[in-house]
Amino acid sequence: MTPEQERLHNMFPDLDFDPQALREKYRSERDKRLRDDGESQYLEIADEFAHYAEDDPYVEDIERDPLDLKLDVVIVGAGFSGLMTAARLKEKGIDNFKVIESGGDFGGTWYWNRYPGAQCDIESYCYLPLLEETGFMPQDKYSFAPEIFKHTQRIGKYFNLYENTLFQTRVTKVQWIEADQEWEVSTHRNDRIRAQFVIQATGPANRPKLPGIPGIKSYQGHTFHTSRWDYKYTGGDHSGNLTNLANKRVAVIGTGATAIQCVPFLGKHAEKLYVFQRTPSPVDLRGNSKTDKDWYSALEPGWQRDRRENFASVLAGQEFARDLVADGWTDIARRIGLSLMNRNSGSGDLDMEEIMLRSEIADFQKMNEIRARCDTDVSNPLAAENLKPWYRQFCKRPTFNDEYLKTFSLPNVELIDVSESKGVERITQNAVIANGIEYEVDCIIYATGFEITTSAHRRVDFDTVGRNGLSLYQHWNDGFRTLHGLSSHGFPNWFTIGINQNGLSPNMTAMFDDQAVHVSYVINEVKKRGKKVAEVTAEAEQQWVDHIIELAGSGMAASSFLQDCTPGYYNREGQSANSSTQNSPYVPGINAFNDLLRGWREKDDLEGISLR
Ligand code: NDP
Repeated sequence: MTPEQERLHNMFPDLDFDPQALREKYRSERDKRLRDDGESQYLEIADEFAHYAEDDPYVEDIERDPLDLKLDVVIVGAGFSGLMTAARLKEKGIDNFKVIESGGDFGGTWYWNRYPGAQCDIESYCYLPLLEETGFMPQDKYSFAPEIFKHTQRIGKYFNLYENTLFQTRVTKVQWIEADQEWEVSTHRNDRIRAQFVIQATGPANRPKLPGIPGIKSYQGHTFHTSRWDYKYTGGDHSGNLTNLANKRVAVIGTGATAIQCVPFLGKHAEKLYVFQRTPSPVDLRGNSKTDKDWYSALEPGWQRDRRENFASVLAGQEFARDLVADGWTDIARRIGLSLMNRNSGSGDLDMEEIMLRSEIADFQKMNEIRARCDTDVSNPLAAENLKPWYRQFCKRPTFNDEYLKTFSLPNVELIDVSESKGVERITQNAVIANGIEYEVDCIIYATGFEITTSAHRRVDFDTVGRNGLSLYQHWNDGFRTLHGLSSHGFPNWFTIGINQNGLSPNMTAMFDDQAVHVSYVINEVKKRGKKVAEVTAEAEQQWVDHIIELAGSGMAASSFLQDCTPGYYNREGQSANSSTQNSPYVPGINAFNDLLRGWREKDDLEGISLR
């Protein structure tokens, strides 16, 4: 036994696996996948690929005359972040605003992503905002996409937001006009819009991306990205019945959270399905259940905030005895908590090293269970082995599905492991080539995800030009610069709802809503105080940036955990960068961040913002 093995054995005498061997395995699997080209391996959806994102398969094109508007506020984006901001502004009595949205309805992610089986992996009682206000009861513990999309429409109707929204309209530029102390917002419909405030709510996963596979342009068959599912081609709808695929050979490239949900439907209907997998996802049990009406109607007022906060604090390891959601997200946190409580390593104080080690062991145990599902659910032993993920549970978005693994036992479904070549080798006119074998297919479906960590400008297809002609993306060139992740110096009366430099949660709608509450408070205060312009000071911005960097570098910094992870968008494809520390979230977590914002509002002095 090595000294490390002996130490581990003394601390965890009952382990039925060798943690050292698992560490080695994780490292070698990660190294196998690291690519020199990192994030630049992906193709931007632009120019000849633009149709993958621009075509809207869900609505007919409309024609309308350009508008000439003078508004209090423009919100760019009508996904959950824009929708919640609009709702919170209405609550403050601010009504002279427009939401500008490229899609044909509310929903954002849930407008675009209509692929078969699409479902939210966060519990619906936490995820769907304003359940108490709208009196809506989700059908299931985990909602499917159509219910979520309908809920965005429900919120839109509840707050009369349809009359405030310009759909099928793309913003092309946002420019501060110093002489008038207001913003000019241009759109692709030549609208002339002036607004006192602008709120950018364009979402973290709004731009699909394609893999830069050699030959991708030469393919002559049918293709689409999962976020613009082509039901005209496949037949059927969200619930399946993809009957047009009965005589089609289909390739799916990618095995992330999206593929996990749609592959079972493709496997059921395609004549032949090839799933090209570079890295397997951790696929945990879903175990969805119908909402118990009696339980739901007996919930006390304020239950949703309580549930959301409990979910966040369990995930952050701050609470585990009371776990209201009790699912695959909170499971690991509960295990770590129990391990810390029951430790047999002596009576001394816990140190960070021990916490990290116990977390690692709990993670190994959890992932062993997830890997064991591959053996029980998949009849082909080689496929079962290849479906096992060798990394820690939160290195990638955890996934939950009860049908995905079983799909690989179907005779028409083949898993093609492309890990050795770090991705699909090549695409030709009519085939996908992997491991030297040519797979002729009629259709390629790209389940290759979204631009989430590429430069902010690349993800937002318009520029925002602030005071002195400074572009927002010049200002953010070396990393985000904000106060509270919400506003930047040089950009008066401008806010963003997002995921950088603020409290992050996998339950994004809760996070967006808390930001919306804060931004609508600031806007209302500026108006109440009879001022025209509010701008974050350079000092306040710098202090927040320094604080974010300091927090990210302290304690159990997420960045070092992520560096050891298999490549993916969570760790910028395994590439380290200073800006990733600067862009990191507020490390103490979403609840602490919300407390901080609440305290800031209660002080009532808009600290860090200058008013003119
Ligand atoms: P991901 O980025 O998670 O997955 C992309 C997939 O494409 C990966 O499996 C990746 O492999 C693969 N890939 C990329 N390039 C190649 C290549 N050259 N050859 C072969 N394979 C390749 O995208 P998703 O759309 O699945 O998910 C994106 C995010 O959307 C999730 O992380 C989640 O945040 C959100 N989402 C949320 C859901 C929810 O329930 N709330 C459901 C679905 C999505 P590799 O892993 O090796 O890079």
